[in-house]
Amino acid sequence: MSALSLENVSHRFGKLAAVNNVSLSIEAGEFICLLGPSGCGKTTILRLAAGLEPLQGGVVRMGGAIVADRNIETPPEDRSVGLVFQDYALFPHLSVEKNVAFGLTNLSRSERKSRVLEALQQVGMADYKDAFPHTLSGGQQQRVALARAVAPRPKLVLLDEPFSGLDVRLRNQIRDETVRVLKENGTATLMVTHDPEEAMFMADRIAIMREGKIVQLATPSELYTNPADPFVAHFFGDLNEFKGICNNGHVVTPFGPLATPSLPHGSPVNILVRHEGVVLGEKVNGTGVEASVLKTRMLGRTSLVDFKIPNGLEDDLHVKARMGSEFIPEAGKKIVLELDKRLAFVFSSPSTE
Ligand code: ATP
Repeated sequence: MSALSLENVSHRFGKLAAVNNVSLSIEAGEFICLLGPSGCGKTTILRLAAGLEPLQGGVVRMGGAIVADRNIETPPEDRSVGLVFQDYALFPHLSVEKNVAFGLTNLSRSERKSRVLEALQQVGMADYKDAFPHTLSGGQQQRVALARAVAPRPKLVLLDEPFSGLDVRLRNQIRDETVRVLKENGTATLMVTHDPEEAMFMADRIAIMREGKIVQLATPSELYTNPADPFVAHFFGDLNEFKGICNNGHVVTPFGPLATPSLPHGSPVNILVRHEGVVLGEKVNGTGVEASVLKTRMLGRTSLVDFKIPNGLEDDLHVKARMGSEFIPEAGKKIVLELDKRLAFVFSSPSTE
């Protein structure tokens, strides 16, 4: 039975359909990210799941039982949900220990004490139990917020952009720890983020949202190598774009033909190729083409190389390739390029313009 399931959930703010017929299930121990541009409805879904926003349409279940529908509206405190927000929301006048103990009202004093200690140990903050929030760093406050959310052993934890206030180097460490703690506890987690790398780093599955709808729900690697549409493809990195026409199950690209089995003969298509999908080739053949280097930029772990591919027409084709940083060719150098076909996508386009 799913820890959380949203069935055809919709929500309007006035005329705006902020959430439009969204369905989503999360199993115990599963980590799902809601990912999408600002205003696409991510936080509203989280608030509907928590019961912080009254449900207007659809059904919300937890562990199979309805917590919200047309007739039922279970209050947030009765939903067994842990919440962590961007601003930590710790009580400034309470010690770390008392902050974490706050939601543990149904336990005896000694049980409460040991539960708080256990949660603080899980996040590595037991030594700070007597400290007050203002004396802690952002990362430490975020750990305490996580301990407070998991201490009541909720079935579901909801995280809303929890790491955006942290500096970049600390972020990866806290992301790692957060996933570990939630997985150890077998908690189902729904996290809102607008950062694709963060979603890929943490999630078992990612729900990509656009204008109140889920566009694609899949594992990080499925989304990266098999995006449902150009919007999803663009979300996970920079792309080269070419136009083409389907010709009996294929489209001609600068790198030779690509299969288009599901598109009709004669239809215009957009071909999208990830920058890292343009790779060094051995020789000019079916997919290998000779290109000349226009410009190379060394970017630390990778380099970004601009190429020109002569195509016999007035305008040469330009492509960008992301390569290892040891590859820093001089402008003008001739290089054979190939396509990593896993990172090339063909979508039907409304016109060839
Ligand atoms: P962000 O990443 O910027 O936080 P989001 O994807 O979480 O965005 P939501 O906060 O769910 O988006 O908002 C969805 C849409 O609903 C937005 O257009 C927002 O302006 C609107 N909205 C959200 N809350 C309210 C409200 N209380 N009243 C009116 N409109 C609202």
